[in-house]
Amino acid sequence: MTRAAGIDVGGTKCLGVVIDLDADLQSGPGVLKQVREATPHASQLVDVLALLAGELGDTDSLGIGVPGLITLHGVMRASPNIAGSVDVAVGPELSHRLARRVYVDNDGNAAALAEWRYGAGRGAKNLWMVTLGTGIGGGQVLNGVVQRGVNGFAGEIGHMVVNPDGPRCTCGRKGCWEVYASGRGLGMLGSGEPGESIIERARHGEADAVTVLEAYARWVAIGLSNITNFSDPDVIVIGGGVSQAADIVLPMVQRWFVETLYSPEQRTHPELRAAQMGEIAGAIGAALLPHFSS
Ligand SMILES: [Zn+2]
Repeated sequence: MTRAAGIDVGGTKCLGVVIDLDADLQSGPGVLKQVREATPHASQLVDVLALLAGELGDTDSLGIGVPGLITLHGVMRASPNIAGSVDVAVGPELSHRLARRVYVDNDGNAAALAEWRYGAGRGAKNLWMVTLGTGIGGGQVLNGVVQRGVNGFAGEIGHMVVNPDGPRCTCGRKGCWEVYASGRGLGMLGSGEPGESIIERARHGEADAVTVLEAYARWVAIGLSNITNFSDPDVIVIGGGVSQAADIVLPMVQRWFVETLYSPEQRTHPELRAAQMGEIAGAIGAALLPHFSS
């Protein structure tokens, strides 16, 4: 048995798991243990992670998934949802404290690994995971290895510019994909009506809500087409809050996707699939980081 520990640092809680890497893939990750603690101010983050690692016990590996920009050396440059998180050396400090190697990566990369190994992306050679939440996260698993880039900042697809004169993004620039295709974007397209309400009304066939959702689906599809044009994936897994409404949103996205894709008749089209792993994906994926990173 290979006991792999993973901890997902969220905006409100840190969730830790131990999984058996040798368990049969078909039966899922085989979660052996689960622990959680509230996410503290960044100045106490390493303390809480050390505590959680202790609770997870003796394991063969330890990976941590953290939101925001994480360097290849495990330094959290900035994380919008964790107070005080500027240049926190999570990886180096925790490694020193625990006297063991610790892998720290972005939570989007971790979720991509979880879906690739156990969820909607099983069997994919070139998988993109796109999380349409409050913002947009992303991660790519290519030939079984999560892609990190030179700085560790690969997969920041939410900030690909789709309209240079568009509304201001949280990153300070204009017209990022996230402005239109995140959960927040759906609210903006609906003139402030909450996304859940738009989706609910569209389900009942209310024409104005269907129009807003179609406009939203088109923006989602434009980003997915761009990803497909530069990366040629076989599977794109859609996660995040919007994936809860996959039954109504994904068919719309699929239609616009085919319409916006470059050279659609010359290629196999990537499958668009709704994420399956739920909120434990980040912790499971964190446990996979030491084993499927370059
Ligand atoms: Zn942006």
